[in-house]
Amino acid sequence: MSKILIRGAKVLGGEPQDVLIDGEVIEAVGTGLPDDGAEVVEAQGKVLLPGLVDLHTHLREPGREDSETVLTGTRAAASGGYTAVFAMANTFPVADTAGVVEQVYRLGQEHGYCDVQPIGAVTVGLEGRKLAELGAMHESAAGVTVFSDDGKCVDDAVIMRRALEYVKAFGGVVAQHAQEPRLTEGAQMNEGVVSAELGLGGWPAVAEESIIARDVLLAEHVGSRVHICHLSTAGSVEIVRWAKSRGIDVTAEVTPHHLLLTDELVRTYNPVYKVNPPLRTERDVLALREALADGTIDIVATDHAPHPHEDKDCEWAAAAMGMVGLETALSVVQETMVETGLLDWAGVADRMSFTPARIGQAKGHGRPVSAGEPANLTLVDTAYRGSVDPAGFASRSRNTPYEGRELPGRVTHTWLRGKATLVDGKLT
Ligand SMILES: [Zn+2]
Repeated sequence: MSKILIRGAKVLGGEPQDVLIDGEVIEAVGTGLPDDGAEVVEAQGKVLLPGLVDLHTHLREPGREDSETVLTGTRAAASGGYTAVFAMANTFPVADTAGVVEQVYRLGQEHGYCDVQPIGAVTVGLEGRKLAELGAMHESAAGVTVFSDDGKCVDDAVIMRRALEYVKAFGGVVAQHAQEPRLTEGAQMNEGVVSAELGLGGWPAVAEESIIARDVLLAEHVGSRVHICHLSTAGSVEIVRWAKSRGIDVTAEVTPHHLLLTDELVRTYNPVYKVNPPLRTERDVLALREALADGTIDIVATDHAPHPHEDKDCEWAAAAMGMVGLETALSVVQETMVETGLLDWAGVADRMSFTPARIGQAKGHGRPVSAGEPANLTLVDTAYRGSVDPAGFASRSRNTPYEGRELPGRVTHTWLRGKATLVDGKLT
């Protein structure tokens, strides 16, 4: 395999350096490295990051290939600078057996745009009644370590306790979609001033916060590890902060859209803003940003949730919940966290690569940009400004809340183990 010399890139936003890739690994990092016949990528002014890792992606295959497939979803991931994604289990059939997780894992390996690590369901059929075959999924070729019923909450406390006890044996983690189901029956948006004015069913913050409070206490009780998906309220932040201060083994994620958008947008009745958990208030958005900056929230995860046009282009009440996110995540983080001075690029590398890789145990990902490491890398033109055009997405779906919105930054190159998956903004 040939050599690639990335010349003059700001590694993690620092001083310009050259990075030489030989085959699948980084051979050298330094200044004035000779090109030695390597293919040269001029990267002056651009920021080089470790390949991004998404702990929360919906690839929809098997079963909903009309909205996304492993191929189109991993192309979207590469386009957004990701080299590894964790695929949620709410497919058809549900990824609740070794057979299904192995199928998703194999599809990821065949398509090659990024590594795909399947997440296993916590309960059979996501029904919340009986534990799925967690051990068999862990022992399978897919080597599952993250389990989630995402899309649904594991609301039965006994089932949640058993799942936490079970994964403890092999160092796995349960990722909870925190939504108390009785408190959110018929809910259409955040419960607050706007829902009252619009007359839409409200989704109270306490429905999320009560489950998080219960689960951090359960994790403490059984001495296990819990991860909280898509925190969306200021109160959730306070609970996670308290739990961490007690030494409870909890990690948490926030989505890009919860860092930027508020429930005021629901006044448009445009279903593109309908998402689970719902968009909250300005106060929540600011608390989430601050928590991501101070490390209370560990990572950014996209909750990339593709839906076909017909499931979103309808009246609010009938529309599916979710937004695509892989191809805009880094730009939203640049806008909300970097340009506000809350995080530097090293901080972005931590929240979008190092720490998600550690939580999910993604081997070879989230590694330092240094000699001997796998060449999983992302090059970003941070000076770029442009409006989002969903027609250019690699995802099969177009349900982005950012259409026509100007966002900063553009991923120009992505390398997966030394192989370019994105060159000059174009997929290979
Ligand atoms: Zn969820």
